Amino acid sequence: SEQLPMKPTVHPGTREREGSQDPQDYHIKRQKSDPKASLTFPVTASRYDAPFPFYRRPAEIGRFSLDAQRCYHGDARQLRYYAPPPMEGPTPGFDLRDGYPDRYVKRDEDVREGLDHLLKWVAQNQKELQTDDKGRPLNADFVTWRGHLTKVLTTPYETRDGWLLAVSLFRGTLYISEVETEAAREEREHRSELLKELAYMGYKFEQYMCADTPDGTPDPSGVVNTNEAFCTVIRTRLGTHSLLFSGEVDCTDPRSPWPDPPSCYVELKTSKVMHSLAHRKNFYRQKMIKWWAQSFLPGVSRIVAGYRGPDGSVVGLETFETMKIFQLIKEDPGCWKPAVCMNFCAAFLAFVKKVVTEDNPKLVHLFAWEPGHPISYTVHRDSDYIFLPDWYVEAMSTEKPPTPRIPD
Ligand code: GDP
Ligand code: MG
Repeated sequence: SEQLPMKPTVHPGTREREGSQDPQDYHIKRQKSDPKASLTFPVTASRYDAPFPFYRRPAEIGRFSLDAQRCYHGDARQLRYYAPPPMEGPTPGFDLRDGYPDRYVKRDEDVREGLDHLLKWVAQNQKELQTDDKGRPLNADFVTWRGHLTKVLTTPYETRDGWLLAVSLFRGTLYISEVETEAAREEREHRSELLKELAYMGYKFEQYMCADTPDGTPDPSGVVNTNEAFCTVIRTRLGTHSLLFSGEVDCTDPRSPWPDPPSCYVELKTSKVMHSLAHRKNFYRQKMIKWWAQSFLPGVSRIVAGYRGPDGSVVGLETFETMKIFQLIKEDPGCWKPAVCMNFCAAFLAFVKKVVTEDNPKLVHLFAWEPGHPISYTVHRDSDYIFLPDWYVEAMSTEKPPTPRIPD
């Protein structure tokens, strides 16, 4: 079956629908008082508290890798294999601070890559993606990074970090690329030593848990290089929106009970060890939403947490099944709801479709959100916000013969 074992398809926000005949008009508010103000879009969680929307089982349609020099390869050379310690004992004895900072090669975060690596994959695999009734070179309504969709999903519950998403419509497909906010750049440029070391510890945990071959053992003596990445390319559908996105995958489990990708992939996380129920409840409310959204979107079925002690050692491991997380959180009435996240995302994508209608790779609509406010947008022509590179526009504009239709 195509559908996940979840609740049936619904149209979010049906109750608020007033007068509009267009099913994509839900929630959209036109500010009448100020004629220069554009449409805004509300993010209040309660508005999206409807049954879970249709979400097609995510299918992996491709893979690519970024090597130690951050160079693209259209293959799975950077894929690593899940290799947990033999006993899922209380203390695997990992020292997450080992190798910091001497065996650490950090990706240059000043380089803004935008969608480039994903676009390279699309351009190189275009022939297989063409089969479209709408005459588009790409059979998808939206192309983006998984991480950008994660931010959209968690927006109704986010109280700290805003976001900026640039959108261009090009040959019938909407491309979404994040723009770093001023606050995020500020945070990045003044990041404390403590936070830098915590970031390293997350990558070090991956090194302790992953091998280079299906039957290999981890090598913690090596260098941690965050240029290296393995990315899966996923096709799926949310409500009326067909999606093509890519996300970085930590490892695959060669012994997974679900042998096929993306289900066999494992997401590795670290978190502070918890000593009270209050602490765990807070963890479910604040952190689990991000873990769930990130893995649910591409259909990654397991998340393995390494719990950090105060000295940087791993004091325990815990495996979460992505599809069972909603059962853990539903006990708590004050907790986030997966259906709200997904309904909100579907409604936001409908809003984007309604706003961005001029097909032009040099036109950018910048959608902006800050906690406590609705989403707003600004329009930019031939600006610094352009993110679809010329090489991509050219590659996708070269007339390819349409797939011949065999008549009956
Ligand atoms: P995530 O879900 O936030 O980890 O992001 P994705 O899996 O969608 O990653 C998309 C691309 O962005 C991949 O090439 C990643 O290597 C890269 N990436 C992931 N996290 C970061 C980050 O914090 N900063 C930058 N500049 N790139 C990142
Ligand atoms: Mg991870």
